[in-house]
Amino acid sequence: MLIRRGPELFLFDCGEGTQRQFLQARAGINRKMRIFISHLHGDHVFGLPGMLHSLSFMGRTRELEIIGPKGIIGLVTSVNRVVKLYNRFPIRLREVKPGLSIKDAEYNIRVAAAQHGIPCLAYAFEEKPRAGRFDAAKARRLGVPEGPLWKKLQSGKSVRVGRRRILSKLVLGPPRQGVKITYAVDTRPCASVIRLASGSDLLIHDSCFAGSAATKAKEYGHSTAGEAAGIAKRSGSRMLALFHVSAMYEDASPLLAEARKVFHQSILPQDMETVSVVAQVLGQGMRREL
Ligand SMILES: [Zn+2]
Ligand SMILES: [Zn+2]
Repeated sequence: MLIRRGPELFLFDCGEGTQRQFLQARAGINRKMRIFISHLHGDHVFGLPGMLHSLSFMGRTRELEIIGPKGIIGLVTSVNRVVKLYNRFPIRLREVKPGLSIKDAEYNIRVAAAQHGIPCLAYAFEEKPRAGRFDAAKARRLGVPEGPLWKKLQSGKSVRVGRRRILSKLVLGPPRQGVKITYAVDTRPCASVIRLASGSDLLIHDSCFAGSAATKAKEYGHSTAGEAAGIAKRSGSRMLALFHVSAMYEDASPLLAEARKVFHQSILPQDMETVSVVAQVLGQGMRREL
């Protein structure tokens, strides 16, 4: 699962074949990129060596950060020691724990515990709210000269022009809420994921089985489509993507029907499908695409 945000990439888990899909998606070889690993089961990490090798081979030079649970450093360094990946770019490895927040200027990525038998992390990508759109024409009309005073208004501060005080709200639109995407795979339905996913624009949740295989879901630390839908509802998410559907379902549409009974805004994305995530602008019906 890859989030594309402007020029930046966020890859969540790296199962077998990811490198092929990644190249096919033309996602970009040398962009700022982080890989988030949920847990150390093969279907989530076996694609890492191939991915690193491919990126290097295709000419990546920029640092790549790989974030995951305890053990991710050992995994990547031992593969690299034995196989020699010929990485031409630096790799930064980071082990994280539930409760941690990875901060960037425009977004945070929060980490929470999933419930899966072995240590497993769920991640929420949250953009910070941004100031409203700046109305340059209005600023000019109000007699504010372009330059540092505009910057001040854009940051929400009032400015003084001659003897008049100009309030930022006169030239700024309503604040724009950031997009929130939560990734919770593999997991049983659990309270920590509900908390993490609160108010998500998109929740990507484990939906390995149909309701008829509920016992199996419990036994293997997965969720049914109905359970995933329950989490979407309880977390107040706006859209649910059913994910990690078991290969035993050749046709997974019954899982989608099950989920929609509980949470209508459910989707079942196919391989290589792109989903646009939009955030609501506070105070207006406008939407912004990510
Ligand atoms: Zn697993
Ligand atoms: Zn899995």
